[in-house]
Amino acid sequence: MNIKNDKPAPGAMGRYANSLDPDSESEVYDSEFEALVRHMLIRLGDDPNREGLIRTPLRVAKAMDFLTSGYGVDADEVVKSALFNEDCREMVLVRDIEFYSLCEHHMLPFFGRAHVGYLPNGQVLGLSKVARVVDVFARRLQVQERLTSQVADALMGAMNPHGVAVVMEASHTCMMMRGVQKQNSTTVTSAMRGTFERDPRTRAEFMALLKS
Ligand code: ZN
Repeated sequence: MNIKNDKPAPGAMGRYANSLDPDSESEVYDSEFEALVRHMLIRLGDDPNREGLIRTPLRVAKAMDFLTSGYGVDADEVVKSALFNEDCREMVLVRDIEFYSLCEHHMLPFFGRAHVGYLPNGQVLGLSKVARVVDVFARRLQVQERLTSQVADALMGAMNPHGVAVVMEASHTCMMMRGVQKQNSTTVTSAMRGTFERDPRTRAEFMALLKS
């Protein structure tokens, strides 16, 4: 199944939610998705009708809709809506952007911090939009390596800077909670574009700023 094409537009999943009382027991957000969660609860050996679980399919449907809401968003538009002409030649670094994503292998969370640097070429990006671009790609089923590249490529394509550098460090709950159970390991990925890729001095300056 191609998730990207089959997924309704954001908000569309809630089209059945016509209840006036938001806490009503009969509230429905996405009946098909909720049925899947109910089946899953049964397969896990629990009773979807017990009190604590009765609204769980509804909550899971809403949570998953939010956690994958990046599919419906065009990162190019996000960037282009917040570009300002500015004759700035110095490196811009946005450090410690918190992000939360879902690994595509287990659909379990991985989360951490992103650091994004770029060398402007006549235009700078509103600072909050850098974090927004990270969210657009984090709120999809991901692998950390691709997430890192996508953030770099989106910024490179939409604002045409001299270069972009993205470093992401994350903890993967699929590693922490199961299998090897390496609770304290973090995974670091990086994507260097333009000047950051070509010039070791630019890269070194970025890395030095990250540690300062
Ligand atoms: Zn995983």
